[in-house]
Amino acid sequence: MTEIETLAVHAGRRSDLATGAVLTPLHQVTTFARAGVGVEGGYTYSRVSNPTVTALEERLAALEGGEGAVAFASGIAAIDAVFRRLSAGDHIVLSDMVYGGTVRLLRDVYARHGVTFSFADASKPGGVARAVRPATRLVLIESPANPTLKLADIRAVAQECRAAGVPLAVDNTFLTPYGQRAIDLGADLAIHSTTKYLEGHNATVGGAVVVRRGADWLEPLRLLRKCAGTIMAPFEAWLTLRGTKTLAVRLDRHAASAQVVAQFLEGRPEVRRVNYPGLASHPQRALAARQQRHGGGVVSFELAGGLPAVRRFADALQVVTLAENLGAVESLLTHPATMTHAAYTPQERDALGVTDGLLRISVGLEAEGDILEDLERGLRASRGVPAPAPPAGGAAY
Ligand code: PLP
Repeated sequence: MTEIETLAVHAGRRSDLATGAVLTPLHQVTTFARAGVGVEGGYTYSRVSNPTVTALEERLAALEGGEGAVAFASGIAAIDAVFRRLSAGDHIVLSDMVYGGTVRLLRDVYARHGVTFSFADASKPGGVARAVRPATRLVLIESPANPTLKLADIRAVAQECRAAGVPLAVDNTFLTPYGQRAIDLGADLAIHSTTKYLEGHNATVGGAVVVRRGADWLEPLRLLRKCAGTIMAPFEAWLTLRGTKTLAVRLDRHAASAQVVAQFLEGRPEVRRVNYPGLASHPQRALAARQQRHGGGVVSFELAGGLPAVRRFADALQVVTLAENLGAVESLLTHPATMTHAAYTPQERDALGVTDGLLRISVGLEAEGDILEDLERGLRASRGVPAPAPPAGGAAY
């Protein structure tokens, strides 16, 4: 059992010995009976560990090819646990384009505790190496980056980190281990918001850190989680186990539809720029082809008409929903400047291309024709052209 599609269905699966139930049972339980006073071993309390959560951790570790995984209550709790290993005076290098919540955590929380950070352009050779200081204890990058889909050559960044003696964490949320093998490419830690593609159905919030074999992170992360009380809940783990089984088929379809959406948007006069690693026009297309299975399911694009056009576009949609999240069966639209990336300053956003006109679409599993029709509706509205009357017999929705 080595192929990722098979691991996604079977790794970590535990049939119920008492009943023969094929699925890993949901251990919705707080505490576990002890064998005797002073007898160690086994499960003790669900803030520490839980069999359903363990099953998910084993699956995620198998998918990423890591030594083990630690599951958290959210993606940001997973990132926070990694940051908590640092002490006052330590420094983090962050790739300049990341999920805004990661920046908010460092600016609004860690700054008060004396942990500093600086941005590096991880898309440039040597960009991370130049940003590393004597006090740097961690490098965290995203590739593809949320929301501009800028890439970093993970193998090259890993070499820069190894030379500097600093661990590398890759937030692999956008592609999952099916789309990109972060640990094989050299990451010490692969971080996931399982809220996105791994669970995939807009039903949970969760996160995980997968640890490379030999890296000294598993036990410290487990201890931090126990102390801080940030473990994933059993039901969320059970739902995420179920979601991972269809990861391969979902991701292939998300990516195929995203490619169609990106090409459609690229040909439109209302659109100034489309960011998608599967497009020939993506400046790092060759790197994407080398490092990623495909372009992934997220496309971002800039409307020429700025914020007013964005408002008209979003208001006109009927299939795609304006909401925070990505990676699930429903197509979702996000306006990064006011939603996911509000923690960046306006100057930083402008410099990175997160303009007021930028929109991010997580392409869902609806019929491609319905998604394109919806985008057509949005684009016409963005220009102030009213939508055509619905066909006789009523609108489809
Ligand atoms: N990492 C990335 C790349 C994200 O996009 C997000 C959320 O949008 C997170 C981490 C945080 O995950 P969560 O919302 O599960 O806390």
